[in-house]
Amino acid sequence: MDLSYTPAEEEFRARLAKWLGTTLPTLPPKPSPDDWPARRAYDTGWQRMLYDAGYGEVHWDASPTLRLIFLEETEKAGAPYVGANFVGLLHAGPTIAAEGTPGQRERWLGPILRGDEVWCQGFSEPGAGSDLAALRTRAWRDGDHYVVSGSKIWTSHAEVADWCELLVRTDPDAPKHRGITWLAMPMDADGITVRPLRTLAGSAEFAEVFLDEVRVPVANRVGAENDGWRVTMVTLSFERGTAFVGEVVACRRVLAELARTARDNGRWDDPGLRRRLGRLNAEFRALWRLTQWNVSEAEASGSVPGVGGSVFKLRYSHARQELYDTAADVLGTGCLDLDRPWVADRLSSLSYTIAAGTSQIQRNIVAERILGLPKGR
Ligand SMILES: Cc1cc2nc3c(=O)[nH]c(=O)nc-3n(C[C@H](O)[C@H](O)[C@H](O)COP(=O)(O)OP(=O)(O)OC[C@H]3O[C@@H](n4cnc5c(N)ncnc54)[C@H](O)[C@@H]3O)c2cc1C
Repeated sequence: MDLSYTPAEEEFRARLAKWLGTTLPTLPPKPSPDDWPARRAYDTGWQRMLYDAGYGEVHWDASPTLRLIFLEETEKAGAPYVGANFVGLLHAGPTIAAEGTPGQRERWLGPILRGDEVWCQGFSEPGAGSDLAALRTRAWRDGDHYVVSGSKIWTSHAEVADWCELLVRTDPDAPKHRGITWLAMPMDADGITVRPLRTLAGSAEFAEVFLDEVRVPVANRVGAENDGWRVTMVTLSFERGTAFVGEVVACRRVLAELARTARDNGRWDDPGLRRRLGRLNAEFRALWRLTQWNVSEAEASGSVPGVGGSVFKLRYSHARQELYDTAADVLGTGCLDLDRPWVADRLSSLSYTIAAGTSQIQRNIVAERILGLPKGR
């Protein structure tokens, strides 16, 4: 494993840093966190700027190492994160790139990279979260369409999405992992109702989605009929293995800001707090090294990220929670004010141990697939 950068990679880093230095000051102010149409416009506008400057492909066409450099430099410069098109850029797009036909790649990847189309993820259902293969949303063939009925829940950004990566049951008689199909569903099709759900932090970032005989062309199926579980594993390996990686750099920045604030407000005198900050610093540095190792392995084998992503997701989500709990200590009673920096992040940090598979599920995966322990009942 070689974790050093080549001259070409260092040249890419320097060119990107220079472009960010001149471009970021021209960006409009960030919209209010709860105005989703404005957030969509802002996030996709930024994606368009990246695309026009030749950085669109970093999400999946470029080498994983260039992608890490991209994440480091954009975060260091304070550039916007992917935001509303998280699903399109970080897991639907990579899945289509890996599993789609040439026609599907041609149809969907360009619009995602240009910021023209936004995707959401319709995997979870009221009775199928951790046990995702228990999903019951049905799809049956009618000529060259699937007709889909059922419901999805916790669908992030459903209100502003153009497409949904949707899991449906196409063979109710097959064993539960074998009767599933992965479809790309247009969100403007007849029969779709989106009902926003408000979170503890006050934002309606996800929704319930009800599907009543929605017609989806058979041509929108990624992978074979009833082979959707295998395609889903590809999607989840991107979701757990690479989608959160950029945020580690952001957490390191927050950590440095916390230390500065603690020095200014006198909290730095507390040795317990200093120890926590030091331990978190070591943890985020280790997570970055783990990411480089995962990326280096995926690059060497030329495949999608492996189950090492579950180790990353598990540790990252807990380190993030500890980071914002420490922020509350630094803020003191200021942590009761939702308008202060870090307070909403603290409320939402709990959700990171649930989204993309709970910590208990990641531990099961690590135990069974990495450590080779017996499967639980
Ligand atoms: C912020 C956020 C955004 C999300 N966005 C999306 C999205 O865009 N699209 C989407 O499809 N889904 C989304 N989700 C849903 C998420 O994937 C599910 O919440 C998650 O998979 C857990 O499923 P559940 O909520 O049904 O909990 P359950 O599966 O009911 O689990 C309840 C508890 O039981 C534990 N548990 C269950 N089974 C086991 C087991 N075998 N061993 C040990 N413990 C177990 C769980 O770990 C958990 O603590 C999002 C969730 C959050 C929080």
